Amino acid sequence: MSYAPESYDPDNIFAKILRGDLPCHKVFEDDDTFAFMDIMPRTPGHVLVIPKTPCRNMLDASPAQIAAVMATVQKISLAMLEGYGADGITLQQFNEPAGGQEVYHLHFHILPRHEGDTLLPPRTMADADDVAAEAEKIRAALG
Ligand code: 5GP
Repeated sequence: MSYAPESYDPDNIFAKILRGDLPCHKVFEDDDTFAFMDIMPRTPGHVLVIPKTPCRNMLDASPAQIAAVMATVQKISLAMLEGYGADGITLQQFNEPAGGQEVYHLHFHILPRHEGDTLLPPRTMADADDVAAEAEKIRAALG
């Protein structure tokens, strides 16, 4: 079966964040990728990593987009373990509605985990001050 992506919607929420049309708590960016806090976190410190160039999800992404995003995912994950106090990392990545995707710009979820923790409920807004505080801790861990 071949995959025929819908055309990329330049007005998806993450494209607006990339353009600066919507606010976010940025934790990291480089030439090719951008990382910011999820406002409905499944764990405290839940970060999203996206490519700066458009693609709908992992299925239409180029190998270069995937490589750039994964390098940033690893960098932030290591910082969470080394400077933020996480014991482990859970990655999530969803493709198409049946795969659980809700925002159609490729993104990886990084969930810092602590021994014995459980995931927070989905689609639940966090306290904005808590998200800002976690972002500050992650930025500090990244140096
Ligand atoms: P998906 O199911 O597409 O992988 O997840 C989309 C993610 O985007 C969800 O975890 C959701 O909480 C997050 N999200 C949705 N709207 C916004 C927003 O306006 N800002 C931020 N920072 N995250 C969002």
